[in-house]
Parts: sequence; structure tokens; C-alpha cells
Amino acid sequence: MQKSSSSFQVMVKPRGPICNLACEYCYFRSKVELYEDSSFRMSDALLEQYTRDLIKAQDLPEVSFAWQGGEPTLMGLDFFRRARSLQEKYGRPGVRMTNSLQTNGVLLDDEWCRFLKREGFLVGISLDGPRALHDAYRVDGAGRPTFSRVMRAIALLQKHGVEFNVLTTVNAENVEHALEVYEFLRDQVGAPFLQFIPIVERRDTGEGADGIRVSERSVTGAGYGAFLNTIFDAWVRRDVGRVFVQIFDVSLAAWSGHNPGLCTFAERCGNALVLEHNGDLYSCDHFVDPDNMLGNTSQESLSALAWSEQQERFGSAKADALSAKCQRCQYRFVCNGGCPKNRFVAETEEPHAENYLCDGYQSFFGHIDAPMRFMAAELSAKRPPANIMAALAPSAKGQAATPRIGRNEACPCGTGRKYKRCHGA
Ligand code: SF4
Ligand code: SF4
Repeated sequence: MQKSSSSFQVMVKPRGPICNLACEYCYFRSKVELYEDSSFRMSDALLEQYTRDLIKAQDLPEVSFAWQGGEPTLMGLDFFRRARSLQEKYGRPGVRMTNSLQTNGVLLDDEWCRFLKREGFLVGISLDGPRALHDAYRVDGAGRPTFSRVMRAIALLQKHGVEFNVLTTVNAENVEHALEVYEFLRDQVGAPFLQFIPIVERRDTGEGADGIRVSERSVTGAGYGAFLNTIFDAWVRRDVGRVFVQIFDVSLAAWSGHNPGLCTFAERCGNALVLEHNGDLYSCDHFVDPDNMLGNTSQESLSALAWSEQQERFGSAKADALSAKCQRCQYRFVCNGGCPKNRFVAETEEPHAENYLCDGYQSFFGHIDAPMRFMAAELSAKRPPANIMAALAPSAKGQAATPRIGRNEACPCGTGRKYKRCHGA
């Protein structure tokens, strides 16, 4: 693989797929079948080898360690203390070590939070909305709800000043409650960084024209698009610059002429590997299977596997298998056909399947086009994109406050109407 200046990212799963919850839509629990009889615990020797190899492989001023699962806190706090001391041992002068931890939060306590704060961890915590929406699918092994336990963990993170973001899945239960979910996360949780991840669980039933179905928990493309549009409308009027929604940030980067900094929308895959508890390295979190195992890091070096021909093929397959619809699409610059895992809608005589979420993406990108153009123009003029809020706010006389939008330009609110007939009226 061509070595890029951004190098590669690795998500480490020190306890493999083992988790203390049993969220119904989890795609990773079934991976226990790959490792029968395993203890599912990363050894100290492997942790040390990985730490040394990752630092050696990255010639950047910052080396990022990303801990995931399953549930990584099941390794216990001492594992992470050791991880930090190894980072110090192998770190080079002037190279900063960063750590992120994706967790369900259930095991966090004061001691954990003091450690996370002291060591500067960024914590990602999973929360699907207010109690009823969260508890619809996020349950423990006994089927009990988890909302109270997650909220307790968030309160602890806040008490200790630990930086955190919230990862919310968009699923069949919460997809029609977009505003309720957003306002809850913003006002009651006080989460400054939000990610909205669509649940798409493919089920091949053998029924229907192409035999493709999705689970009842999955969103439709149109539903996901409507969810994002609703939240965008709320965000763009009052929260720009104070609430950060990953897909909005990524979109603004693309509208500003930069690469979308999220693998889903990048031109190619291959920059987000997965290291299992026993050293097996895989191409991607969504392709942890024997066909996409690159090798074991105790036998070959991490960088040799990360830059291998096999990973190169995995990375370029995303662009190579772009559907004809994507190739013609006006939003290809931001979308790039989305994640290959969701490309399973076959069209007759088309060699490459289309993305199941495409309807939603097209709706969303069309909806945000005008406001994104406005914010990108502000950025390029070295003004804050948050100026859009003033542009959309009516003045006391009912007129838009900012005159920088041409009367005949599309209104930045995304209706598609001319500014003079919309917020400029
Ligand atoms: S397959 Fe999907 S999740 Fe994996 S790297 Fe590609 S876009 Fe990202
Ligand atoms: S919006 Fe649809 S057609 Fe356009 S690039 Fe994305 S998946 Fe392809």
C-alpha cells in the first residue's frame, strides 16, 4: 500500500468481542465464534509489542491508541495503566500519545474517571436517546435496561472533567424521534460531540427478487436521511460552533474542498484496522472475518501487515466497486458511495451494488447543500461558519440579519428556495 502522510489507525480490542451488555443490534458479539476456547484477554507481552510497533510505524507528531470492544473496560484499570506506562517507555521525544476509549460506561467509577482525566483519554460513550429509546435495544445479558447506568457514567465523566463524545445509533425505534433525541443529548446530557450511526443489519432470507432483507431494527435510507435533516435544521439555527455533530463536520470539510475525515465517506478504505486480543489484524471493524484477516502481529510486523498488498486491495476496492449511480452522483465528492458494508442493493445489469442508505444520503446532502456552501464560503473568507445562524435569524423587522447572501442565491436553510423568497423575505 502507498504509505500516506496520515499513516494508519488501529482499533484495539483487548477483550475481543466480550461485553458486559447484550445490545440487540451489536454486530460484534458473534465474533466469539472466531475464537473458540480463547480467554479473550490481550497478554502483557502482546500489549508491549503492539505499543512498540505502533509507535515505530508512525512518523507523525502524534500516535493515537484507540481502545474498543466488546467492552474494553472489562480488561480492568491496571491494563490501561500498563498501556500508558508502555507508551511512555517507547515514546519518542516530541511525539504525543493520545488515547481514546469506546465504552458502554457501565464499569466506570471515580477511580476510572480520575485515571481517564489524568491521562487525557477521550471517551466515546454509547447512548441512543432518552430512556425509552435507549432501552429499546441497549440491554444487558439478562435483558435489563441500561439507561440509568449509562447516565450515571456520564455524570461521573462530567464530574471529573473527562472529555467525552456520545455515539448514538439511529435505529427503527428512535429514527422518528430525531428532535427529541438531539434535544435530549444537547440539553439534558450536555454532550458537545455527537455521532449518529445508522443501524443496517443485512439479512439474506432468500426471499424477494434479490433475496436481500434487513432486520426489523434497521433504519431505511429515507428514514436516516429525514433523521439527519431534522437535526441539521435544529443545529444550523442555534448550535453551530457549540455542538459538534460528526457528519455535519465531515460534510463541511468536503464542501470546503478537503477530504472527508471519516472512512465511511473517504475515497478509499484501509486506514482503520482492527487488532484482536490475540494479535490477529483485520482490514476493518466491519470485516472481521477469515477472508479479511491480514495476519498475526506476533508473526509479522504491524506495519508490514498494514501496508500489505492485501490491505491495499481492500482499500482500493471501495472506489473500484463504485456503482454507476455513484459515479454519476453530484454528491460523490462528499459521499464516495458510503461504506461498502452497506452496498448490497443489486440493480439488474449493474456489476456493482448500490448503497442501501443512498436515498437518505441524497436527501441529506441535497438538504444541506445551500447551508454548507454558505459555511464553506465563510470559512474560506476566514470568518466563522457560525455566521450562518445570524443569516438565518430574522431581525426585529422580520428580515434576515446578515446581508451577505445574494437575494437570488439558494437560501442557506436548505429549503431549495431562493433566499429572497425564504429567510431573506
Ligand atoms: S469498509 Fe466501511 S467501515 Fe470499513 S474502512 Fe471502509 S468505509 Fe470504513
Ligand atoms: S449519495 Fe448515493 S449515489 Fe451518491 S455517492 Fe452516495 S451512495 Fe452513491
